[in-house]
Amino acid sequence: MANKLNVTIWNEGRHEKMSKEVGDIYPHGMHTAIAGGLSVDGASIRTATLDEPEHGLTEEVLADTDVLLWWGHMAHDDVNDEIVERVHKRVMQGMGLIVLHSGHFSKIFKKLMGTTCDLKWRADGEKERIWVVNPGHPIAAGIGEYFELPKEEMYGEHFDIPEPDELVLVSWFAGGEVFRSGCCYTRGAGKIFYFRPGHETFPTYYDPNVLKVISNAVKWAAPVEREAPTYGFRKPLETI
Ligand code: ZN
Repeated sequence: MANKLNVTIWNEGRHEKMSKEVGDIYPHGMHTAIAGGLSVDGASIRTATLDEPEHGLTEEVLADTDVLLWWGHMAHDDVNDEIVERVHKRVMQGMGLIVLHSGHFSKIFKKLMGTTCDLKWRADGEKERIWVVNPGHPIAAGIGEYFELPKEEMYGEHFDIPEPDELVLVSWFAGGEVFRSGCCYTRGAGKIFYFRPGHETFPTYYDPNVLKVISNAVKWAAPVEREAPTYGFRKPLETI
């Protein structure tokens, strides 16, 4: 089926186990909350976590994944470099990757961006207002001019990322900072979307607008079906 989309939601999954506060908000993990809230026609959704063998990202699982979501924070360094290479290779081949919140410091995102991906932060639980700055973009479908999250962690500029190919969302925080919250890239044949909200101590992944953005991003990041390009020496197509 052409519209069949295999989505894998990867979560570090440590905060939920180690913190009662986080465990109370996400008793089955953030990955399960996101899986329950995604609305993508024809999608088959599975989850994977850090503490599974091969972090749940075996060659078979990745070969069968069209779009991978990534949430990590406290254990970025525990992600095996071999698995990072495996994910990177699949992105180059066309697998979509959606990097969520503190995934900005994940090995895979830093490798794909080539910059520090550093930013300002403050986890005081302040209001975030997220503005759509690219209203024609498919990731903004069904989203108003802006939406608000009553309590979130602040991420502030400067965000040390390459200039996004397309910028879809910009956040304003009650404390005064702003941030590029929805950034699109392509690397190889793969599409990458970074989406800012999702601090573990707030119920962000139950918010309908957040889930709508993620659902739109999954559709946008889906691979384009075509033969892979070829490289290297070529005989001329015409007589020269
Ligand atoms: Zn956070």
